[in-house]
Amino acid sequence: KAKEAGRNNAQFFDPQMQIAVSIRAALVNDLYEALQQENFRLVFQKQVDQFGHVVGVEVLLRWHHDVKGIISPADFIPLAEETGLIVPIGHWVLTEACKTLYLWSKDEQLMTLSIAVNISVVQFSKKDFVSSIINILQQTGADPKRLKLEITETLLASNVPDVKAKMLELQSLGITFSIDDFGTGYSSLSYLKSLPINQLKIDQSFVRDVLNSQNDHAIAQAVITLASAMNLDVIAEGVETLAQRDLLQRMGCSVYQGYLFGKPCSIDALVI
Ligand code: C2E
Ligand code: MG
Ligand code: MG
Ligand code: MG
Repeated sequence: KAKEAGRNNAQFFDPQMQIAVSIRAALVNDLYEALQQENFRLVFQKQVDQFGHVVGVEVLLRWHHDVKGIISPADFIPLAEETGLIVPIGHWVLTEACKTLYLWSKDEQLMTLSIAVNISVVQFSKKDFVSSIINILQQTGADPKRLKLEITETLLASNVPDVKAKMLELQSLGITFSIDDFGTGYSSLSYLKSLPINQLKIDQSFVRDVLNSQNDHAIAQAVITLASAMNLDVIAEGVETLAQRDLLQRMGCSVYQGYLFGKPCSIDALVI
């Protein structure tokens, strides 16, 4: 009888859904193994000033999957966040970035560069986030003044008192903050006056059509004007053409990141 009931129950399952669930479970398992087998790599993308001088890099995560090849973060970060695996993965990213900062501090040409690291809301919200950063800084010998954390509006809208306390503590170490994908989240602008933010990052969705879309142009200009009025740095991401760069420069933006200056690449391929 139990067997019959089980069979009947099974009929209620949507086979498509069952496939999706098992693919997901397999991917979670792969993700967990990737962490243990050190199958993650970092790529670096240059950030340049108006003279084309490199002022820093952003580190971007890549998963080298045994079978599926290189998987981009958009395809696994959400899963890593849901499962909490983003916490150890993010810890690994920060550690590698800080090791690089330490190595660069011994090189006259590289010692002034900053490294920007993307931080997930899930990671930042952990109780021991600040102490884990302090540990990483101590272990690697990295200069916190060269470490920039890229956070999103979602974080700023989450638990403001907790976020503010952590940001102030990290700021007191010398760490700086950039708001990634600025203008795409849904949060009020009021946090800009109460939180220790150093830089706004104009989202690539506004940069893409800045030449042809009046609306995107207006938004990009508003971000640049806001940043300048509040004494914040501003950087445009996703800059692919000289025309975009020149227009952004005329609009008052002076730091850029995008394929025009270099795609994200391995540290060995990075030409500063
Ligand atoms: P993001 O931080 O906004 O990074 C910018 C994305 O735009 C990167 O995609 C980069 O490769 C891409 N990009 C750079 N220049 C251009 C350009 O000129 N044109 C176009 N079309 N795209 C450009 P990527 O590497 O696939 O990363 C996607 C997102 O995944 C990142 O967006 C970030 O939110 C997240 N991410 C990446 N690495 C990490 C990480 O270590 N930790 C966390 N939590 N998130 C990460
Ligand atoms: Mg970023
Ligand atoms: Mg971005
Ligand atoms: Mg983005």
